[in-house]
Amino acid sequence: MSAFWLHVCENGHDKLDRYGFVKSEFCEICGASVLEKCPTCNNFIMHVDYGMPTVGTPDYTRPLFCKHCGKPYPWTAAIIEAATMALEDDDILTDEEKSKAIATIPDLIVDNPKTTAAANRMKKILSGAGNVTKDVFTKVVSSVLTDVAKELMGLQ
Ligand SMILES: [Zn+2]
Ligand SMILES: [Zn+2]
Repeated sequence: MSAFWLHVCENGHDKLDRYGFVKSEFCEICGASVLEKCPTCNNFIMHVDYGMPTVGTPDYTRPLFCKHCGKPYPWTAAIIEAATMALEDDDILTDEEKSKAIATIPDLIVDNPKTTAAANRMKKILSGAGNVTKDVFTKVVSSVLTDVAKELMGLQ
């Protein structure tokens, strides 16, 4: 029988295994705990059971959010947290600018009706931030920004 489980560490390193966990595992790349279920709702991140022998493996993209409960997975939450830290640590922006910028982050990583406005706002606020903030923020979020957000922010 062909069955597959997507296993992802808290930092987002993923691999497709042909077994479900009987005991906990740790990431071979970074040492963090490996998850096979959403920590919020306890549904599998991805479990495919073809019910018969198959050749090859299912295609997948590591999800950012749980399709069962909508909460960000730990690797997504970590990026949001790191981007928030980068903005909070800025020496030039006002507290109001910081909170406005932080509030746009979730709309920059998933295309939704607010993404364009969020990217414009972030670009504007970042242009007034220190260079270190710009660098750190860009590095932290570059792997998860939507193409629309990247383009509007001039990051591609
Ligand atoms: Zn890892
Ligand atoms: Zn969930």
